[in-house]
Amino acid sequence: MLNAINGLHHVTSMAKDANVNNAFFTRVLGLRRVKKTVNFDAPDVYHLYYGDETGAPGTVMTYFPFPDIAAGQPGTGEVGTTLFAVPRGSLEFWQRHLADAGVEGLKAEQVFGEERLHFAGPDGDMFALVETEGDERAPWTGAGIDADHAIRGFHGATMRLADPAATAELLGFMGYEATDTGDGVTRFHVANGGNGADIIELEAMPNIAPARLGAGSVHHIAFSVDNRERQLEVRKALADTGYQVTPVIDRDYFWAIYFRTPGGVLFEVATNEPGFDRDEDTANLGEVLKLPIQHQHLRAELEAHLEPIRD
Ligand code: ZN
Repeated sequence: MLNAINGLHHVTSMAKDANVNNAFFTRVLGLRRVKKTVNFDAPDVYHLYYGDETGAPGTVMTYFPFPDIAAGQPGTGEVGTTLFAVPRGSLEFWQRHLADAGVEGLKAEQVFGEERLHFAGPDGDMFALVETEGDERAPWTGAGIDADHAIRGFHGATMRLADPAATAELLGFMGYEATDTGDGVTRFHVANGGNGADIIELEAMPNIAPARLGAGSVHHIAFSVDNRERQLEVRKALADTGYQVTPVIDRDYFWAIYFRTPGGVLFEVATNEPGFDRDEDTANLGEVLKLPIQHQHLRAELEAHLEPIRD
């Protein structure tokens, strides 16, 4: 069993409209945009990152906005609900705040003893706020949501799988322990070095068709490791187990490896180093368009093509 995984690093999804996406995450959810860059593999599309003040691993929701993308169709083989941690007693505030902002899909429920408020993102993205106890992470309050209520980062994520068995086994290998089960859902907790974003839930949906990914779908889910050395250990262990893992890819703010899991979800393992202050001051994160070296010659073209983000 691996002991290098700390929990989630980031979750990356697809959106239709960059400005709608930006307004939702910064103004409605009160996260900080910590990076404005492009999809390194398709630089004519933005890659927007939202998180806490520094974009700490375990807080970072990221988006590829594709203006022409069709809506995603929920199904199996995908991340279902992305869970954000909020303080105990704050869901009353959020219920009102989200309703006032016209957010759809509000539904409160209790899952494994936790109070959750489900809501939909602008593209039907499935989210829930979860009241948690003793989360030491300092929230970003620069967007006007005070510390008594503000999002701390991820709590975890759920995955919708036709058959969760192989993914459950993989999570065990990655250092997660099954802690609870009920209603076709098994809950896992990362045993070692949790960063707060330490929950994964697998939902068995044997008679549901595979998802068609599109706007509002999660593209991949990334797990955190401290550094490149840990990442190489994880990569070797996964490859030795038979997973087809990509080489290490430099994403400027972290190093990444990717592999497709048996249930269909694309996993990434990302390093906590070097972080989002690598190419701009913490005070000014996310303000200007940052481009990786390989795309810097495209700056004029990209700035003419990408719709400006209105803050
Ligand atoms: Zn990623």
